[in-house]
Amino acid sequence: MRILVISDIHGNQVALSAVLSAAKDRYDAVWCLGDLVGYGPNPNECVAMVQALPNLVCLCGNHDKAALGELDLSEFNADALRAVLWGGDALNAESRAYLQQLTAAAIAKLDGHPAWRQVMLAHGSPRDPIWEYILTPEIALDNFLHFSEALCLIGHSHIPLYAHLTASECKMQLATDGLEIVLDEGRFIINPGSVGQPRDHDPRAAYGILDLAAMRWKFHRVTYDISETQARMHAHNLPRRLIDRLAFGR
Ligand code: ZN
Repeated sequence: MRILVISDIHGNQVALSAVLSAAKDRYDAVWCLGDLVGYGPNPNECVAMVQALPNLVCLCGNHDKAALGELDLSEFNADALRAVLWGGDALNAESRAYLQQLTAAAIAKLDGHPAWRQVMLAHGSPRDPIWEYILTPEIALDNFLHFSEALCLIGHSHIPLYAHLTASECKMQLATDGLEIVLDEGRFIINPGSVGQPRDHDPRAAYGILDLAAMRWKFHRVTYDISETQARMHAHNLPRRLIDRLAFGR
């Protein structure tokens, strides 16, 4: 079984379509780690596309909660706030109903897998699924105490990376396109990066594929028509800085 892992789509339908085309025929299930909406111009289209994916486990993120009006918005900067308010208004009843029943953390069950019975999924971190960013080995180490599974998949920071905990150390490594890791020893926290708003200076859409039979994970990037997403954002008068940053991936 191969699982397509996506996160932080942020209403970027063009990027999501590119990821689904690139990964076509290479997955049997999809795990989506939250932030389907916020920032981007096509929140309803993205929610509908995600819902239609096969064998889906889907989390919500802080931006989904914010768009639903379920989060204190004082933590958002001015541009994010403007985009959140626009995104909240733009959400239709179907998208709202779907997002409302999602949680920011979940356990994915893997019946019949020889090594793993389940995988931990969290938008931010196992300790604080809504807000915490795992960007240092120290924070990763703390978070390994907050779940018992061998593998935890996270989103939220928009930075593809992994943390590896062995008996002697906790290492963290940033991940570039094509990096593959074997998950046979120790425990891992992996972030596939962001589909719709990458922030690691690579503007391409990011995703990961977890191959359960081979116990391997691979990081992927795919180019998409950034100017098309930018034009759609312009049409909705979304903040200039959010439009520009897509081209730089930061
Ligand atoms: Zn996000």
